[in-house]
Amino acid sequence: MLGFLQKVADYTQDAVGAAKYLVQGLGVTFDHMRRRPVTVQYPYEKLIPSERYRGRIHYEFDKCIACEVCVRVCPINLPVVDWVMNKETKKKELRNYSIDFGACIFCGNCVEYCPTNCLSMTEEYELAAFDRHSLNFDNVALGRLPTSVTSDPSVRPLRELAYLPETIMDPHELPSNQKRAGQLPSQIVNELKKKKSQENKNSTDILTNKLDSINK
Ligand code: SF4
Ligand code: SF4
Repeated sequence: MLGFLQKVADYTQDAVGAAKYLVQGLGVTFDHMRRRPVTVQYPYEKLIPSERYRGRIHYEFDKCIACEVCVRVCPINLPVVDWVMNKETKKKELRNYSIDFGACIFCGNCVEYCPTNCLSMTEEYELAAFDRHSLNFDNVALGRLPTSVTSDPSVRPLRELAYLPETIMDPHELPSNQKRAGQLPSQIVNELKKKKSQENKNSTDILTNKLDSINK
């Protein structure tokens, strides 16, 4: 009899322990339900990079004068400028230009110092490849216009996650009712529209009043 009671007591203790863990787990779940989501459902959702994001380099072949400044200012002398000297015109003739994004550190020095501004940094960040040799972009690949997150109809661009409240750097602990530092772009547009319609209404009122006074 005592053995049976002991078994019942052990079983009850185990059941209470399991229920405790279950409540603890659900507590974590419910706690997270109140928070702002910080995950991005990539590739269906994508964050919009900041305006000064240093992504894949864009190159304009026609503007390049083959001066090789980009090579000299690059910390690893990465850009390959392939040119020949035309003996008749005594000018350099550009044949090819390439940058290996498998080695580039996206420091932006080449873009900064290029005298003809034929290099620029884009917001393109999707450079993953199965073969690292395919990361070596020639002038045709470098000249391709970048794909923009905002113009891709198959993805939902997410700018909102960047708008955290002032002084907050970590969004994980953020309660959902916390005020953001600035307004969202959509809120700013709505406010500007309201302001504009109010201004139009005021100018119409002034005009009507003036016309009334003239008629009197
Ligand atoms: S610095 Fe500019 S112009 Fe000169 S070689 Fe490099 S890309 Fe061409
Ligand atoms: S971004 Fe920096 S590392 Fe990359 S090619 Fe230009 S200078 Fe070199």
